[in-house]
Amino acid sequence: MGLGIMSKLSLHGTDFKSAPGGVTDLDWSDVAAALAYGLSPGAEHLGLYLFAGHEDSRNIILRLLTVVISKAYETEMRGEAMPSKTALGLAESVVVELSDRRRCKRCAGSGTVFVKVQRSEPAKAGTTKSLTACPKCGGVGVESMSTYQQARLAGLNSMTMTRRYLNARASGCRAYSAWLTELRDHLNAQFQSDDNTEDQTSH
Ligand SMILES: [Zn+2]
Repeated sequence: MGLGIMSKLSLHGTDFKSAPGGVTDLDWSDVAAALAYGLSPGAEHLGLYLFAGHEDSRNIILRLLTVVISKAYETEMRGEAMPSKTALGLAESVVVELSDRRRCKRCAGSGTVFVKVQRSEPAKAGTTKSLTACPKCGGVGVESMSTYQQARLAGLNSMTMTRRYLNARASGCRAYSAWLTELRDHLNAQFQSDDNTEDQTSH
């Protein structure tokens, strides 16, 4: 159930109706209702962008990331300000990499895969399945992007990007991931409580 929701939440353009997990009638109005409860602005606007394609929300996400990236850079460089054009470019590259890119084929965008693990007890010889972060995309659900591509999106050359801005950009990626996690957890909780009202026996 939780995994079903997660696979649906990975990217905009995801086909809600064909995803596994038992919720076959999830649509945008369900998501909009679930978003009406307290989320951070980042998580809320990420939801509005990923599910409804709101360009206004994408712009708000970009502005929030610009602030995160600029502050991280300023701290790292002991007060040196990042040019605002660079900060916006890096923010754009984060959004493109983490939301607009193609879904990872290995995990279908969920960021998680089942792997076979050897049972530790000899008495129960054989393998069991375990859910783990997708090794191909590192758990982000999208195909990874080269530093060259990241730099190009940010309007920088790869060398400048690597030398000066990699850490600040990574702060932007972490902020985006935190919003996405918050959004997923929030929606999972909302939809699970909906399920429980329909089926009191499930635990
Ligand atoms: Zn993957």
